[in-house]
Amino acid sequence: MFEKILIANRGEIALRIQRACREMGIKTVAVHSTADIEAKYVKLADESVCIGPPPSKDSYLNIPAIISAAEVTDSQAIHPGYGFLSENADFGERVEKSGFVFIGPRPETIRLMGDKVSAKDAMKAAGVPCVPGSDGLLPDDPREIVKIARGIGYPVIIKATAGGGGRGMRIVHTEAALLNAVQTTRSEAQAAFGNMGIYMEKFLENPRHIEIQVLADSFRNAVYLGERDCSMQRRHQKVIEEAPAPHLNPRLIARIGERCAEACRKINYRGAGTFEFLFEKGEFFFIEMNTRLQVEHPVTELITGIDIVQQQIRVAAGQKLAFRQRDINFKGHAVECRINAEDPYKFTPCPGKILNWHTPGGPGIRVDSHVYSGYTVPSHYDSMIGKLIAYGDTRDQAIKRMRIALSEMLVEGIKTNIPLHQELMLDANFIKGGTSIHYLEQKLAARPEVAKAR
Ligand code: ADP
Repeated sequence: MFEKILIANRGEIALRIQRACREMGIKTVAVHSTADIEAKYVKLADESVCIGPPPSKDSYLNIPAIISAAEVTDSQAIHPGYGFLSENADFGERVEKSGFVFIGPRPETIRLMGDKVSAKDAMKAAGVPCVPGSDGLLPDDPREIVKIARGIGYPVIIKATAGGGGRGMRIVHTEAALLNAVQTTRSEAQAAFGNMGIYMEKFLENPRHIEIQVLADSFRNAVYLGERDCSMQRRHQKVIEEAPAPHLNPRLIARIGERCAEACRKINYRGAGTFEFLFEKGEFFFIEMNTRLQVEHPVTELITGIDIVQQQIRVAAGQKLAFRQRDINFKGHAVECRINAEDPYKFTPCPGKILNWHTPGGPGIRVDSHVYSGYTVPSHYDSMIGKLIAYGDTRDQAIKRMRIALSEMLVEGIKTNIPLHQELMLDANFIKGGTSIHYLEQKLAARPEVAKAR
């Protein structure tokens, strides 16, 4: 096992990884920008190294600075967390070439799954169901493009093969709008990702977002840890996640889960990963794979009792998975609310100093957060300041516990989206379960004007 791991990330996930390491008796190195110098988790780490000024490109995305931090601290492995460099194949390669272990899949796997067209091809070959669409990249010939769209049937969605973070996508409802949309998406893709490759898919009108968590070791052993429902989204950003997904037949999950595990074996996947699907009318359609730890991993940890971060570390250290599929049991229900420093009505980010921070507790409550009273939320990064997770024997109990937790939670000095979560925990359709990915946007659009203007 490693003796020392460098954590190439910040915020709640840096603390989460640090906790996993400490439990395993592994020393930790925190790297930080000058904006995070005062953060408590930086002080809690065994060592810390400043890697640059606040802008991410100069610090958390600064590959040479991170590699030298690993060198000067004699770290053996680097955990990239999520976001930042976690899905950057070049980073994985540089880490391994410099003699460190990258806690994640092999760089070639990251590359394969990072390109959406090659990922879809690999999944099709592995027997994972995909959204019907163009066979690979769209050709240049406009007549061909029109023909492909007719074959798929409107509405269609044009997507950048190098896209990510909900960017580089355009929905097209009619043939009249098609070629213009293709042109715009192509230029946007070139500008944003330096890759003008685009492809076309059937646009599913009312799907749910269901994802499958997998774990695989270097010996082609792979298991799935069940599903998560992440349909509650705003601008393609997840707001609430839960496991298991309400009203889904466990046999259906077992079937798709096994397909995902089998795909891992086929592509020789290593580490933790997530297969994201749209689910409509009883069918799963693969959209992409995330080759890293996800923000919402705790809901899966709570229903399986498996520490996903520790498993990532074990697998990276060359150990075999210590369990098989039949050893994994799903028990109870977990719901996660992402707590963001933002206006709960206008959704503008709200960084600044937290004057008072009081977290809830009690049975089934987990809080993953790096902030505290007196902490200043920097303006340079993502607005998520923590995650509130509630577990119960049943979904109903988890939701009740979440309501109590939200009512106990106190954040003063900055605005947060806690009022939105309180509203959602009382929403009749959320309580029923199984809403589509468009539900939250529709609900927000229908909010009373007074609330919107607040
Ligand atoms: P990204 O990598 O940018 O997150 P994804 O391919 O995962 O892109 O898609 C992001 C979101 O866009 C999905 O969660 C879904 O809401 C929507 N979306 C993507 N593809 C389709 C599709 N074929 N039909 C309907 N919605 C889609």
